[in-house]
Amino acid sequence: KLAVDAASESVAAGGSALDGIEVGIRLIESLGSDGSVGLAGRPNAAGYPQLDACIMAGPTRGAGSVGGMEGIVHPITAARRVMDSSKHVMLVGEGARWFALEHGLESVDVSDLDAKKAAWVEREQDPAEPLEKGHDTITLWMLDGNGDLFGGCSTSGAGGKLPGRVGDSPILGAGLFVDNEVGAAGATGVGENVMRYSATTVIVEMMRQGMHPQEACEAMVHRIAAVDPLGYQLDVCFIAIDKQGRTGAAASNQRFPFAVGLGGRSEVRSVEAVERP
Ligand code: ASP
Repeated sequence: KLAVDAASESVAAGGSALDGIEVGIRLIESLGSDGSVGLAGRPNAAGYPQLDACIMAGPTRGAGSVGGMEGIVHPITAARRVMDSSKHVMLVGEGARWFALEHGLESVDVSDLDAKKAAWVEREQDPAEPLEKGHDTITLWMLDGNGDLFGGCSTSGAGGKLPGRVGDSPILGAGLFVDNEVGAAGATGVGENVMRYSATTVIVEMMRQGMHPQEACEAMVHRIAAVDPLGYQLDVCFIAIDKQGRTGAAASNQRFPFAVGLGGRSEVRSVEAVERP
């Protein structure tokens, strides 16, 4: 809700919808209030955050993304720079950090990371050492007055992930997909379960065939659960919006909140886990 409100205020003040996406997500990256977004998010197995983010602009078919990036305060801005100022769509790891620094993005000192990596190698030899668990992502879209769609997402990814692991969030068609003709979809949950099914691309395609966003999100959970060895224990959550501004959300195995804003007002809604039919 904080991000939705900040994005709406930015647009009301004259910013573009794309600026709104960046402003809203930057707020959550700064606050660390989600616990899984930005540098205050969840550390990897070596004890420090590696960040994933992406942004998509419907009308231009533009996209930018960063994966496994260290020490950059605003991954969503790095993703936007990749979209606006490079020939590429995705940069990862050291190259993503270098690109962000070259573009003057705010950063923190990462000179202690080698020591953390070394400590992790030692710790890995102790099977009793627990990994931090948990995960979450912020995904934000805007449908502007022209009927154009924009979206972005940002996360520190799954807590305790291996260094170098990239989740679904920066993968277009997995963690986020925007199709300006149809709608947009986003995912949270265990990224490996989302990536293996190109979930947000499929949700958008379901909407293209005429499904309401709610129906498409639920259908995607059932479709994955029907074939995946984990069934409904998958831990995947989807949100979607179509060109008419209709929204939907569905999850397996858990509840999750999302916020919807319209005309300067916003509200938080809750999704119950869908049941096996
Ligand atoms: N999907 C994210 C990841 O696996 C985490 C989450 O959204 O809960 O990195």
